[in-house]
Amino acid sequence: PVSDQAFVTLATNDVYCQGALVLGQSLREHRATRRLVVLVTPQVSNPLRVILSRVFDEVIEVNLIDSADYVHLAFLKRPDLGITLTKLHCWTLTHYSKCVFLDADTLVLSNIDELFDRREFSAAPDPGWPDCFNSGVFVFQPSLETHSLLLQHATDHGSFDGADQGLLNSFFSNWSTADIQKHLPFIYNLSSNTTYTYSPAFKQFGSSAKVVHFLGSSKPWNYKYNPQTGSVSEEGSGRADQHQTSFLNQWWGIYHRRILPLCE
Ligand code: UDP
Ligand code: MN
Repeated sequence: PVSDQAFVTLATNDVYCQGALVLGQSLREHRATRRLVVLVTPQVSNPLRVILSRVFDEVIEVNLIDSADYVHLAFLKRPDLGITLTKLHCWTLTHYSKCVFLDADTLVLSNIDELFDRREFSAAPDPGWPDCFNSGVFVFQPSLETHSLLLQHATDHGSFDGADQGLLNSFFSNWSTADIQKHLPFIYNLSSNTTYTYSPAFKQFGSSAKVVHFLGSSKPWNYKYNPQTGSVSEEGSGRADQHQTSFLNQWWGIYHRRILPLCE
C-alpha cells in the first residue's frame, strides 16, 4: 500500500455520509491500495463518524468558521459558496503527495489505482458540456499554496455555476486544451443518467465503466430498495432506465449487505 496517496471524499451531513460509506466500501471491495479519507463538517453526527471510521482510514473534520482567517474571510464574502469552499479543503491534505477526489454520490465498480499515474489536474468531461470537466472525480496534488489561490479565486470571481465545478473549471481553465493526459476517460465518471442520451455508445462502452456518478437531484439513497428482490422498487425508481436501475441496485446491494450491519 502507498501511504502517501489517498482517495478522498466529502460529507457535510448524515445523508451524504450514506453515499460516502458505500463509496468507501466499494473502494475496499476492489482492493484500493491507497488510504481512504473522508472530510466531514461539524454537522455530521458522532454515530456516523464512528461508522465512517470503520470504512475509512481517516475521518477529518474541516470547519469553515474555525479554520484559518482567510477561509473565514472568503466564506463571509461569499456565503453562497459554503459547500464549494468545503470541497476545496481537500487541497489542505498535505500529508499526502497526490490524491483522487470522488464525490460521495459515486460508486467504484473496479480497481482504479491507475488514476494515481495521472497528474493534477485530471478529470473527465462533463456530459452536459464536454469542454468543461465534471468535478465529481479528479486527481489533485494537495498544496496550501494552491488552496489559498483557489480561495482567492472564489472570493474574486465567485463560481459561474454557484458550485465547485464552475470554480474549478475557471481556475484550471486550460484543462480542455492543454494536455490530453489530463482528460480522464468517461468510464472514470460515468453519469448514471446520461446513459440513455447516446445509448449505442453506452451499449458499446458501458460495461467497461469503472466509476458511476449519480449526479443530479435523485441520489441512490432517495430510492426504496427491496432486499428480497435485490432491486430498487418501481415506485421509487421513477423514470430510471434499465442501466441506471442496475447501478442503483449495485449501490443498494453494498449499502444493504455491508453498511447497514455496521449501523446496528
Ligand atoms: N456534498 C455534501 N453535502 C451536500 C451537498 C454536497 O457533502 O449537502 C458533497 C458530496 O461529496 C457530494 C459533492 O459535495 O457528492 C457534490 O455534490 P453533489 O454530488 O450533490 O452534486 P452533483 O454531482 O449532483 O452535481
Ligand atoms: Mn456528485
